[in-house]
Amino acid sequence: MPNKRPTIKDAHKRIKEEVNRLKESHRIEHDVFYQALEEVLLSIAPLYLADEKYANHNIIRRLATPDRIIKFKVEWMNKENKIRVNTGYRVQFNNSLGPYKGGLRFHPSVNEGVLKFLGFEQILKNSLTGLFIGGAKGGSDFDPKGKTDFEVMNFCTSFMRELHKYIGPRMDVPAGDIGVGAREIGYLFAEYKRITSTFDGVLTGKPLFFGGSLARTEATGYGVVYFTEAMLEMEHKESLKGKVCTVSGAGNVALYTIEKLYQQGAVPVTCSDSKGMVYDARGVDLEYLKDLKFKRRGSLEEYVEKHPESSYVPVSEYPEGGHAVWDIECYAAFPCSTQNELTELDAKNLIKNGCTSVTEGANMPSTPEAMELFVKNKICFGPAKAANAGGVAVSNFEMSQNASMLKWSFEEVDAKLKTTMYDICQNIASTAKEYGVEGNYIDGANIAGFKKVADVMIAEGI
Ligand code: NDP
Repeated sequence: MPNKRPTIKDAHKRIKEEVNRLKESHRIEHDVFYQALEEVLLSIAPLYLADEKYANHNIIRRLATPDRIIKFKVEWMNKENKIRVNTGYRVQFNNSLGPYKGGLRFHPSVNEGVLKFLGFEQILKNSLTGLFIGGAKGGSDFDPKGKTDFEVMNFCTSFMRELHKYIGPRMDVPAGDIGVGAREIGYLFAEYKRITSTFDGVLTGKPLFFGGSLARTEATGYGVVYFTEAMLEMEHKESLKGKVCTVSGAGNVALYTIEKLYQQGAVPVTCSDSKGMVYDARGVDLEYLKDLKFKRRGSLEEYVEKHPESSYVPVSEYPEGGHAVWDIECYAAFPCSTQNELTELDAKNLIKNGCTSVTEGANMPSTPEAMELFVKNKICFGPAKAANAGGVAVSNFEMSQNASMLKWSFEEVDAKLKTTMYDICQNIASTAKEYGVEGNYIDGANIAGFKKVADVMIAEGI
């Protein structure tokens, strides 16, 4: 029997579904931004109380409003020669401290609200590094997963055809994020060069042969561990040496967190991806994971075939409202996959199991309820905007190297990264003390990051 041709009714139905999806994404789009905003604004209250100038200069409203949001259409051709359409964004949030800087994310969950949240967090994070960089974020709802290199290249080329108008080494310098690694940055940079005929340090996270910095790939994960060590030291806790650690995620941040944990003598026993979690009590096999995730882009399910003594828990078997990875006993926990991946139930499990510290490798992985529990229970808690700032710090080092046409050694970059992470930790610990919230690294980070940007905005006038 021949296929029934779609009727007008079918078309209406599909259109309505599409409209509902759009409506839904618009509704969701603002939740995560307001969650971040509220969290930050509540915690800077001691600064607001201490000095009226912030209220007098309407700083909250001014800082919470992006300088501009660029939204554009990206048309590209898939491997079947079909034209596809995605949306591209760049949220240029604030450039008081320096050129806009922040990653590009390619993931189906990307929308304006998510990028506003990430961009806002980026302003404070960049401020905490002590370097001269403003805050931005961008990306697309394009999903590189399952696409061929050729398709990814087609998409990146089209994306840059529009983005290049708004970026520049002294204006806005994007980097990678979820779904945007060295491959994507390479394609994006090549297209920028083609269009502008310039070899500028306009993107960071570039492959080494395009002017990338040594240790940029490792920087966020390594920095997360340096930050944790500094925090444990300041809080007079035992170091990570010989300690069992749990890590979520199996991407860039997670795997280099695992690598540095091994280098510091710790035992990272878990990792996870969007399908499930691996637990290997002897310590996860990092070399195998790098091959599986970075080269073959496979699923963690395969890990247990190679290591039958480990266990794999698929997402469908996670406890309701929680995640299997946070139910494993550990000294230190490292959420390194995505936002809101560590819930109230997860926090309760970590506390019940005697966890001493939690450091956020991902952006905003802990829900507000989880963070509240950590603070209440005096768990050492390293918030994302401070703990994962190592990536952007080394991106800044990459900009310095590009501008001076110099190349620093891996050891040099790693040493500077370590110093930066210790400085960030010290700064937020002393800020917390100064504003009467000693030991609270969340408030310390928010106040220190906010204050620096706000003071420059006041000095600049309007
Ligand atoms: P990657 O794309 O390399 O890895 C992301 C990892 O998280 C993958 O293992 C992915 O699994 C998993 N993941 C993604 N979405 C979900 C989900 N909804 N549920 C469970 N797991 C999920 O990204 P990065 O490692 O670069 O980034 C991770 C986090 O760190 C992000 O929040 C990012 O913003 C933040 N960050 C990254 C920096 C960097 O330098 N890369 C700098 C600062 C912050 P799967 O493979 O199945 O998709």
